[in-house]
Amino acid sequence: MENRVFNKQTKLSEHLASPSEASLGHLSELNGSRLSPHFTLGELCKTSVNSLDGNIPGQEEIENLKRLCPWLEELRKRYNERYNSLPLQGEMEEVTNQQNERPPLAPPVGGGNEEPIIISSGYRSPEVNRCVGGAHSSNHLTGCAVDIRCVGVEQAIRYAAILLDTADDWKQDFDELLIERNRKGRYWVHFAVRPPHEGNRRKVMMVST
Ligand SMILES: [Zn+2]
Repeated sequence: MENRVFNKQTKLSEHLASPSEASLGHLSELNGSRLSPHFTLGELCKTSVNSLDGNIPGQEEIENLKRLCPWLEELRKRYNERYNSLPLQGEMEEVTNQQNERPPLAPPVGGGNEEPIIISSGYRSPEVNRCVGGAHSSNHLTGCAVDIRCVGVEQAIRYAAILLDTADDWKQDFDELLIERNRKGRYWVHFAVRPPHEGNRRKVMMVST
């Protein structure tokens, strides 16, 4: 599995470095394969499916993936600010003094380090989408959607709340915000933003697959 993923990433970077891709004029703009400070093109195209086409997006799909990145950066920032910050030293002492009979507070998740947002699926070629049983009109096919891995339902709800707040604060619409759960009890947030001229429906749902 590791090798397969590695091979896919190698293929993608080889493709990006090829003269034909460079001639599209967006290679330098992408600054290698980084679409934003914390998200790379490779992360947003990775797949465990060993497809013949290598799951390589075109220019339009890359533009769509780039449109998602400010949302993902904001999610990362706000999630870490709200849920992953160490209490100030003074606050910690106060809590300890007042509640001597209680055990000390557990350290925050991630030990105060920034928690990353993990993308389990972003762009999907038609072949990859077929293999994973994606919908025919899936926003993944155009690079407009990502699946964000969640530890459990609580994290899924927190991610969803932050994305809704961000949409309100920015006065921008998204197309889909789905909290999804599979039969194994795994949760993820499917989040999609389409180009403005295609219309964003602000569809919010809980989905069991
Ligand atoms: Zn999805």
